[in-house]
Amino acid sequence: MTTNPAILDELRELLPDGAVLVDPDLTEGYRRDWAKDPAAGVPLAVVRATSTAHVQSVMKWASAHGIPVVPRGAGSGLSGGATAVDGGVVLSTELMRDITVDPVTRIAVVQPGLLNVEVKKAAAEHGLWYPPDPSSFEMCSIGGNAATNAGGLCCVKYGVTTDYVLGLEVVLADGTAVRLGGPRLKDVAGLSLTKLFIGSEGTLGIITEVTVRLIPAQPPASTVVASFTSVRDATTAILAITASLRPAMLEFMDRASIGAVEDAMNMGLDRDAHALLIARSDSPGADRAREIDVMAQACTAAGASDVFTTDDPEEGEAFAAARRFAIPAVERLGSLLLEDVGVPLPALPDLVEGIERISDKYDVLVAVIAHAGDGNTHPLIVFDPAETDMERRAHIAFGAIMDLAISLGGTITGEHGVGRLKKAWLPDQVGEDVMKLTERIKTALDPDGILNPGAVL
Ligand SMILES: Cc1cc2nc3c(=O)[nH]c(=O)nc-3n(C[C@H](O)[C@H](O)[C@H](O)COP(=O)(O)OP(=O)(O)OC[C@H]3O[C@@H](n4cnc5c(N)ncnc54)[C@H](O)[C@@H]3O)c2cc1C
Repeated sequence: MTTNPAILDELRELLPDGAVLVDPDLTEGYRRDWAKDPAAGVPLAVVRATSTAHVQSVMKWASAHGIPVVPRGAGSGLSGGATAVDGGVVLSTELMRDITVDPVTRIAVVQPGLLNVEVKKAAAEHGLWYPPDPSSFEMCSIGGNAATNAGGLCCVKYGVTTDYVLGLEVVLADGTAVRLGGPRLKDVAGLSLTKLFIGSEGTLGIITEVTVRLIPAQPPASTVVASFTSVRDATTAILAITASLRPAMLEFMDRASIGAVEDAMNMGLDRDAHALLIARSDSPGADRAREIDVMAQACTAAGASDVFTTDDPEEGEAFAAARRFAIPAVERLGSLLLEDVGVPLPALPDLVEGIERISDKYDVLVAVIAHAGDGNTHPLIVFDPAETDMERRAHIAFGAIMDLAISLGGTITGEHGVGRLKKAWLPDQVGEDVMKLTERIKTALDPDGILNPGAVL
């Protein structure tokens, strides 16, 4: 696609020197997110905005010329949501990094490019905590978290990103900047437009500021680690635990992911185990010991081969870190197709066993990790791109796993978003009427379809 050079000059004139990148050596790194979408386009330019006014200028210019704009945070997305499109602009918010913490109201006002870990650190300086904790918390941005409604490990007890967003500043397709919600703990004025943009994956507007709720710092946690010789036994323990209390973390790893993490980290995890559960309690006082006891007993009753508990937060954190490292560890085994399917909790055993059957049927390795307490699994399909038939089978398995989740009343994505890689399955999950409603909302906000075209719908 060729674009009149004058149009690009016009963009340069609207922005500070150096904000517009066109050198392919520099723009290459902005073409894909972590999902490495093979269909990534070649962008006309990458813009690194440093203010809301710059984002407005870009959107006014893009609207005037019908240029597609792909918003991008830190590029850690797992669904091809930030894949560049041919002839479009990748609008990166990575340089928008201000934060102000108000410890009295317990909120922070954050620009979108700040990393999740940096928000946590700024909150911690005031004895406060920003809970949502995607495993990628050290490399994903708060803007990307809001745009995907990111989840994570502690969300089973503390909720996901949307539960902490009180307000947004959003730049619309035509360049108008709107403020939605704000630094108020309660506010029901007007329609819930803040919620509309959370999880909208860059298709409705560019998030330029996020006001988040903070809570008092998390108490120290105690941890249970249990090994199982069968996946069914582990899922039995998960259901028993969630039926009796709210764990602060309840994570699952299958044998393949245990092996991959052990290869990478050499922590002494039980390679013979078919499943590993990592559960936490951070309840105050005697409740913590009681909850740890209940969770350990649930694992033992479900047939765990080994149950280990620790009150040492650092030791417990080492297991959580191992779980967080599972995706990069499995990635060492080959190319990945990453899934994010979730089901209502009682269907979790059927989902995990169904995934095993799909793995056998298509003869591809599917490593499974899960935010088990949320019923949210991440089957990681491993293939060798040099083997054409294996890649073909991996793609069939990718679809079969989403079909399975839908058939169990579940979702094709619990937290990563639809992006480009899962959108073919969205109508199967939500149905024709919801797709039409979604299209009407998209058309109302982005009539020319310039915001992240090809993502979600
Ligand atoms: C190892 C690993 C582990 C992960 N673990 C988790 C996990 O536990 N839980 C979880 O939820 N996710 C997880 N993820 C996925 C990813 O980190 C999240 O989806 C994260 O929220 C993406 O943030 P980002 O800044 O990297 O966004 P990007 O990848 O840059 O973008 C993601 C989407 O948001 C849009 N977007 C980004 N910024 C803006 C903005 N300012 N305005 C509008 N739209 C925008 C993009 O267009 C795209 O559609 C993991 C990823 C990796 C690599």
